[in-house]
Amino acid sequence: MSDTFLGMPAFPQAAARAVRDRQLRANLRHATHTIRDKRARAVAELPDWAELRSAGKAIKDHTLRHLDRYLVQLEEAVTAAGGTVHWAADAEEANRIVAGLVHATGTTEVVKVKSMATQEIGLNEALAAEGVTAYETDLAELIVQLGEDRPSHILVPAIHRNRAEIREIFADRMASWGRPAPEGLTDSPAELAEAARLHLREKFLRAEVAVSGANFMVAETGTLVVVESEGNGRMCLTLPRTLVSVVGIEKVVPTWRDLEVFLQLLPRSSTAERMNPYTSLWAGTTRGDGPSEFHLVLLDNGRTAALADQVGRQALRCIRCSACLNVCPVYERAGGHAYGSVYPGPIGAVLTPQLRGTASPVDASLPYASSLCGACYEVCPVAIDIPEVLVHLRERVAEQGGHPVERAAVAAAGYVLDHPAALAAAERLAGRTRALHPRRLPGPGRAWTDSRDLPEVPAEPFRDWWRRNRT
Ligand code: SF4
Repeated sequence: MSDTFLGMPAFPQAAARAVRDRQLRANLRHATHTIRDKRARAVAELPDWAELRSAGKAIKDHTLRHLDRYLVQLEEAVTAAGGTVHWAADAEEANRIVAGLVHATGTTEVVKVKSMATQEIGLNEALAAEGVTAYETDLAELIVQLGEDRPSHILVPAIHRNRAEIREIFADRMASWGRPAPEGLTDSPAELAEAARLHLREKFLRAEVAVSGANFMVAETGTLVVVESEGNGRMCLTLPRTLVSVVGIEKVVPTWRDLEVFLQLLPRSSTAERMNPYTSLWAGTTRGDGPSEFHLVLLDNGRTAALADQVGRQALRCIRCSACLNVCPVYERAGGHAYGSVYPGPIGAVLTPQLRGTASPVDASLPYASSLCGACYEVCPVAIDIPEVLVHLRERVAEQGGHPVERAAVAAAGYVLDHPAALAAAERLAGRTRALHPRRLPGPGRAWTDSRDLPEVPAEPFRDWWRRNRT
């Protein structure tokens, strides 16, 4: 994943720092509550939402089960339509392929459509190391890039910024990336949008190469789909001579007809719109219309490992709508940066540890970045049971290590719970010594009891009470 997140502290430390930032909390609360309320209204308009959700889940599950077949079918269809397909096992290979394609055109600049996959592989940084500048053209991504910041939300990467901060970034930084911000720029949304439009237009008109991701790829026709709200995507997808799309292998759907389901689920779940303002679809190349060269880089980067996990694979159903972020009480307070990944919030907590593994402290802490309240599952348009995957990943983290005292305590608990006589003896002993029990745990358990009281042990175990009272 992007090395811009390298060196981040694990979630508890990063979140503790973030929740002390009152401005950040206010920005997040306002934005997430506004989006979540609008989404609920948009979803309530459809009487068959539950059926659509089940259909989306079923299509994704079916595709994942037969992913090998559909990817080969996709490759054949894209090739037949005049495109070239490349396979990338990991981030390094994908970056090398894209850099090679850009170099072959002789240009040193590319324009980009907002893409999670390219952020995941750290493409901008890899291209910069090769002397190529990548310009983000989505408004929020532009704010992040100009501010030398990191995205903090899947859909609204600059959700942590308010209007005054954005005005400052534009006024200070636009000039060093191209056309400066207009004199006397205020923080009115219309003026900020116009400043971005003017700044980006010269890049669209100059660009020889564009890089995109895709929301969906249709196996039967080789069609790629990008949905967006600003029109910047359409400019990138149509004006340059060469288009390179980097797409995770899980984004394939079998048939054109399947799009009918996802093009209803996605806009209502993400921007709370009935349909996207811009939905661009293309297959290969067409003489005299749009790019004359099209390359599709199919990215694995940990996805086949996730697919092998029977519980965890459901995370690959994700259509990146971000509804789970907007309802998550943890995300609302900690913000996206605390997750140390381009995938923040509940989906990040289950996807990142599967794509990157759980060896690092950041990745091992992510499955715990949740209260397991289940709000994410309720809103997910493809019914990913995020709490189930979180618990599953916690098991994986616990099995790989933990504090020796914690391991010894869990082993002792395992023995006692497995032996009824030992459990009865332990309960009686706990009841008799209850006056001596501490209110706070020492050692590794201290963090747990810093914010919770230990439950009081009853004087008499239930089983003894039951024996005395059942007759
Ligand atoms: S997990 Fe579900 S709710 Fe969250 S971003 Fe993915 S599709 Fe949307």
